[in-house]
Amino acid sequence: MIVGVQPLAGFDKLLHYRVPPMLHDAVQAGSLVRVPILNRQHLALVLEINAISDVPLARLKNLTEVLHDYPALTPDLLQLARWMHVYYAARMESVLEAMIPGAVRDGARLKQDKYLGLARPATPDEFAQLTKKAPQQAKLYEFLTQQFKPVKKSLVLARLGTAAAAVSALIKRGLVHEELRHVERVAYADNWTGGEIVTAQPPKLNEEQAAVVQSVHESLEKKKFAVHLLHGVTGSGKTEVYLRAVEEVLAAGGSAIYLVPEVALTPQTVARLRGRFEAAGHRTVVWHSHLGEGERLDGWTALASGKARVVVGARSAVFAPVRDLRLIVVDEEHEPAYKQDETPRYHGRDVAVYRAKLAHTVCLLGSATPSLESVLNVRAGKYKINLLTKRVDDKKMPDIQIVDMRIEIMRQRGLVTLSRLLVDHMQGRFERREQTILFINRRGYSSSMQCRKCGHVEQCPHCSVSMTYHRSDETLKCHMCAHQRSAPLTCPACSAPDIRWRGLGTQRVEEAVRRVLPRARLERMDTDTMSKKHRFREILAEFRAGKIDVLIGTQMIAKGLDFPNVTLVGLVDADLSMHVPDFRANERTFQLLVQVAGRAGRGDRAGEVVVQTFTPKADAIQFAKRSDFDGFADAELLMRKTFAYPPYRHLIHHLFRGANPEKILFYAEHWVKLVEKTLGTAVEIRGPSASPIEKAKDEYRFQVWYFCASATKVVPELVRLQKEFTWPEGLTQVLDVDAMSLV
Ligand code: ADP
Ligand code: ZN
Repeated sequence: MIVGVQPLAGFDKLLHYRVPPMLHDAVQAGSLVRVPILNRQHLALVLEINAISDVPLARLKNLTEVLHDYPALTPDLLQLARWMHVYYAARMESVLEAMIPGAVRDGARLKQDKYLGLARPATPDEFAQLTKKAPQQAKLYEFLTQQFKPVKKSLVLARLGTAAAAVSALIKRGLVHEELRHVERVAYADNWTGGEIVTAQPPKLNEEQAAVVQSVHESLEKKKFAVHLLHGVTGSGKTEVYLRAVEEVLAAGGSAIYLVPEVALTPQTVARLRGRFEAAGHRTVVWHSHLGEGERLDGWTALASGKARVVVGARSAVFAPVRDLRLIVVDEEHEPAYKQDETPRYHGRDVAVYRAKLAHTVCLLGSATPSLESVLNVRAGKYKINLLTKRVDDKKMPDIQIVDMRIEIMRQRGLVTLSRLLVDHMQGRFERREQTILFINRRGYSSSMQCRKCGHVEQCPHCSVSMTYHRSDETLKCHMCAHQRSAPLTCPACSAPDIRWRGLGTQRVEEAVRRVLPRARLERMDTDTMSKKHRFREILAEFRAGKIDVLIGTQMIAKGLDFPNVTLVGLVDADLSMHVPDFRANERTFQLLVQVAGRAGRGDRAGEVVVQTFTPKADAIQFAKRSDFDGFADAELLMRKTFAYPPYRHLIHHLFRGANPEKILFYAEHWVKLVEKTLGTAVEIRGPSASPIEKAKDEYRFQVWYFCASATKVVPELVRLQKEFTWPEGLTQVLDVDAMSLV
């Protein structure tokens, strides 16, 4: 028997091995194995079984070992890997590395333990000799004769107090042999119920929810591929619908994958899930970036071996090796965080849909602000739409008020952080002991510094992006390459003394709030706080307990938070997300407004939202004010159609970077000509042009955009041309299929 394997360590090539008879039963497609390459053992994944090789059988090496008695990748995952390899123009090796967690790959190495067993019985003479001359060896030998199977070396040594030298001597005599073995870890069994678990009684579904659950149930029953888009306003009880669908799958003996954009940001959702399923006796694997290696390995093993059947996690959980997959839930399906920004540059939602297709199962996408991609798929009849139009218990949607900051600046005579309306509302909330959340777009004291006289903006010398001013240590920092310098007191360009800060940061808003509400308890949550994960959880707990009056944070915290006592939400600078060079800026702004507004009035009292903007007439702001999703989608889709942007065409980004800008541009232009000539009208090319971030880490960046009707046709052609083209040294080029960020 011959197998084709893909090594997982720097060899981007399919290799063939012979399978020794004793491993015939153990090996299957998707098995993780160990193989010899150049006299060293490497991890590899079996892609083909019963393969045919050009190399004569006699010259093939033997597979060394099969690591688990279940496959690391199930058949649908193997197919998915092949699809990702082609669709996202990613090397097979990098696809497999994304699919099989590092902990599993490393763990396979770490988990090895030394075991001792009897090699042959000693003759009576030998044993008599041992007893007399080497009592330690005799004792060990005797112990081993009493065992039925090899025992862990470290345990034996500790138990008998034997020296390692005695073991070596016995091995030398040929009486004992030592071997490496894999042991399955069961560590989780003791502590898997650890952590906060909310075990509330499931609520009775309202009519709309019941209708959606029924609709999903009908698809689940058919055991066929189907995609549902659950479009439910904020607070309409989407999570409850997901939970019911997962419950149904578990009851039927199947498995479910539940994706969230970022686990650390959705502690409440995770607690609800675990509460529901663990109370019902199902171990719920939580998959996130803060997990330790051991925890990761245990979670993965539990899923792969079928001991756990539900996993909650961020995008990479879409690769969970669950048995009998019946459902993939993608919560907040519109979130850009689902796109991975390093190779393989896959989109978690799109991969979820494709995996569901391969597994003939149901994919349930949900959002209060579905992506235009999904909306178009509904309109084209590819996805089923399910609506939740009302908040649970008929709670009112919050009232959104727009403040025109241009007028505010004239009124207050100068730069304004908080408008009078917002301040009045906040003071009212404070007196009534209700809570406020203020959202800002960026981190730091303020985003960049700009001279009020000459307009100079300080840039990073390596990255050509504006530097961020950090008040705590009076520095300017580059967020791309971490370059920093002390903040100048006068303008570096014109020497004017009154250099000022443009844009708003969480610290600056905090100061403004302190001035108007000196007695209020404030807390700040931004990327700095986020990096301390315990602090993040603490703040949320304190806020929930009412120990904080005003919570200030970046939009990162807008997702999934559910605080009943929050009756006011302020968006301090709605414009920042709108003035970026990206055709999705309107969509992002609309989503931000609706999601942010969704945090208000989730309890018994109605909520209010104050949005500060310099462009109050903008579509995104007007449609959000009226909570008119369909109106927004119609207007925005029309624009996309006019310009033939996604979702009407696929968009592929091609980045070229290197130290020598003339050389990079020269080759990029040359390349574009080749693509034009070869692909003709199948693709519309824009560029090469300088990337918005012209320079990063001392490399110059140029980009080319491809618009095409079919990525499946164009990408393989680009990859083929990439291989033919003679690339110069010092040029790196990267394809990003269905690029989400235009910067
Ligand atoms: P969404 O995800 O749509 O924003 P959630 O799922 O977070 O909304 O639901 C909002 C709140 O309503 C949660 O506290 C949830 O427990 C509660 N809830 C959901 N469904 C019901 C129901 N049928 N009856 C009562 N409360 C419900
Ligand atoms: Zn930099």
